[in-house]
Amino acid sequence: MKVDVLAIAAHRDDIELTCGGTLIKMKDLGYVTGIVELTEGEMGTRGSAEEREQEAMKAAEVLGVSIRENVKLLDAKLELNMESKLRVAQKIRDFKPRVALIPYWEARHPDHYTAGKIAYEACFIAGLQKMDLLGEAHRPYKILYSTLYATSVTPSLVVDITKQFDQRLAAILCYKSQFSDTRAGGEVFPPLDNLIEQIHASCRFYGNMVGVKYGEPYYVKEPFRGEDLVKLAGRSI
Ligand SMILES: [Zn+2]
Repeated sequence: MKVDVLAIAAHRDDIELTCGGTLIKMKDLGYVTGIVELTEGEMGTRGSAEEREQEAMKAAEVLGVSIRENVKLLDAKLELNMESKLRVAQKIRDFKPRVALIPYWEARHPDHYTAGKIAYEACFIAGLQKMDLLGEAHRPYKILYSTLYATSVTPSLVVDITKQFDQRLAAILCYKSQFSDTRAGGEVFPPLDNLIEQIHASCRFYGNMVGVKYGEPYYVKEPFRGEDLVKLAGRSI
């Protein structure tokens, strides 16, 4: 199956927490969307990998994605090496995305920034004809780095997800094993109310940057090509 927009992330709930609204919006616009995760989250303090898989599949239905696959690299041990890159690059060849949404290359959690590096290099090697991969060479045309976990980064663009916000929140709340008022592993997790408040606050913060209620932020390395300056979105002053 060919997808238009493919989101890649380290763990199962990362997509919902960083770019879920964008995936819903692209689906609403008529595009085929998909997700590739790198690990099964087996090192997570709460919930088993099996529980998370069931939750992820429910969330996939809420997001309306056509595919959700996991390349099963080792959680908390992600490394930028050839094996990791080949596994992700094969998915890029299989699904031939026009757009890839990948994690920004700096983050607190090593898996998050490593996932960003693996995803970028996988996008590159998937386009090398002689690479040890099945199928035709393919590279995404556009790569957008999700910066929601990298709060010090000023995004290049913010996607308006105001209409998709409630559905995005419903997708996040499918991860019941992650987000409930429990104590595990000696850590106290924020109550569900706090989490929901945080999700509102971060999407409001980025939405405010572009004059809408809720937004999801992205960074793009290359400049945007200018055409009709009169139709440029986003107020400067
Ligand atoms: Zn994560």
